[in-house]
Amino acid sequence: MASIRLSFEEKWEKIIACDRKYDGLFFTAVKTTKIYCRPSCRSRKPKKINVEFYDDITEVENAGFRACKRCQPEIEFSPHMVVVKEVIAFLINHYKQDLILKDIADQAGLSPFYLERLFKQETAETPRTYLEKIRIDKAAYLLKSTALTNLEICYEVGFQSTSTFYKAFRTVKQCSPSEYRRGTCYELD
Ligand SMILES: [Zn+2]
Repeated sequence: MASIRLSFEEKWEKIIACDRKYDGLFFTAVKTTKIYCRPSCRSRKPKKINVEFYDDITEVENAGFRACKRCQPEIEFSPHMVVVKEVIAFLINHYKQDLILKDIADQAGLSPFYLERLFKQETAETPRTYLEKIRIDKAAYLLKSTALTNLEICYEVGFQSTSTFYKAFRTVKQCSPSEYRRGTCYELD
């Protein structure tokens, strides 16, 4: 599995949000309990200082961590899901680029038609909508952690126009980027 380019802070946010989109892409290891979890695990959150992140399940196992009984991170994904997870890792690492379905399919060695069908079957989304959510996650992170303007963030996360950015942001976060930054936004889970 390609390792994904997310900072510690971003990974921390995903586990606080129990974000299933990132399952299988990294693992949360808790130094005090020696247990490791999926990002979406619903168990009580560890203290930030006790957390380490691993991209690879073999590495986390070799480091002496045991799989959490609740989220069962060691359960293997189906071969189809492994392909889809590789595609998702590619999307996370290339979200800034103006990707079209063919680029994504070429990278996975599949036809665009087959990729879209497989992706939909495994995630109930298209690569396009998934990429949009990854970009919005990135934008939300930048809104909270930087002083970049909405416009700068729009292009930074790979949107080609502000109207698309605002529309996608509202669809995912149920509010505008400015409302989100001010903290006057109530996310629907
Ligand atoms: Zn767990």
